[in-house]
Amino acid sequence: MIATRRRLLAGLSASAVAGPALAQGAPATTGLKLTPAQVAAGRAFLARHPSVDVHAHPGVFFLRDYAGANATAKAMGPPFEAKVLAAMAQGHVTAALFNCVADAALLERTPAGGLAPAREFQPGEAWAEYRRQIGLLHAMVARHEVAPGRNVADITAAQAARKVAAVFAVEGGDFIENRMERVHAAYGDGVRAITIIHYHPNQIGDPQTSAPRFPGLTDVGRDVVREMNRAGIIVDLAHASFGVVRDAVGISTRPMMLSHTNLKRPDLDHPRLVSVEHARLVTEHGGIVGSWPSGIGHKTMADWIDSILRLVDALGVDHVAIGTDMDANYLPVFGDYADWPLIPAALLARGLHEAEVAKIMGGNFLRLLGGRETVKPDRAKI
Ligand SMILES: [Zn+2]
Repeated sequence: MIATRRRLLAGLSASAVAGPALAQGAPATTGLKLTPAQVAAGRAFLARHPSVDVHAHPGVFFLRDYAGANATAKAMGPPFEAKVLAAMAQGHVTAALFNCVADAALLERTPAGGLAPAREFQPGEAWAEYRRQIGLLHAMVARHEVAPGRNVADITAAQAARKVAAVFAVEGGDFIENRMERVHAAYGDGVRAITIIHYHPNQIGDPQTSAPRFPGLTDVGRDVVREMNRAGIIVDLAHASFGVVRDAVGISTRPMMLSHTNLKRPDLDHPRLVSVEHARLVTEHGGIVGSWPSGIGHKTMADWIDSILRLVDALGVDHVAIGTDMDANYLPVFGDYADWPLIPAALLARGLHEAEVAKIMGGNFLRLLGGRETVKPDRAKI
């Protein structure tokens, strides 16, 4: 039904944009053919609805005061949180998952332009790095640069006060090692989502981007998923191998998240994209998939909007979110939070209803953060 309505409206908007009005609509570089009225509708939408970026590293905050100097840190340059926070306020972003990067110290650029670990952790290093990075987030809240984003009430309050809330998150469960008390320590620190595997093949399982060592979750990995369920931390399966996703769906009693990816297509394959089967494992378990403006299969922001709609068509509107990976996305087609209103503007222009866009822009994530939903683990899939 959505697809039919969208086709009709796509035809309408194409004729409506012909003419000089386009000059004041979306910038031509975005590839979005939005009129000034449609852009204004996107801004007005964000004044009415909370919006959440489900995967971000704003201003590469995690590199602040970073003593190490590996190639990745050098390539990303010095942190620039203040500039990005200003853009978030300008773009009416209500909240973002501010992700620490657990394995940042290990990563180097590969010749192909990706990231891969160049070494292993030294004893105590993973936990020390976690403590350092989470301390940076606490300091940003203490300085009132961001509002706390510990629960739905915090995010509703941030929306009312027109502040940007930081939902604390960690990309990589390496810092947990095999010490489950650290999962609860992380919850106490305000962490509400952990991407259990990043680029470093860890004690939990393997990433999509390296040769698998294990068929799925390790025994420690199963304990980590169960402990995160108990603590109330969202399990983020982005970067994880298909086997890890299958095993996590088998045991998780909570809906989970695939925070930043897109669907493979017959003409587009990449290790960081997922099959429909892979995505549906997560969404049929109640979870959500964040669409990633990665530049993989995208030349412009308009191409990314197509990827969002492809997820909506494959998974249903209750299971799609936005995960930009700002500012650690190496080929972004969405690179400035000041353009955030263009996302709802484009989705509305493509024929989605306001209530549907509200789910994608934040409502679906808030359902997971609210934590009221439980799902029965599917023992048959273990
Ligand atoms: Zn990331």
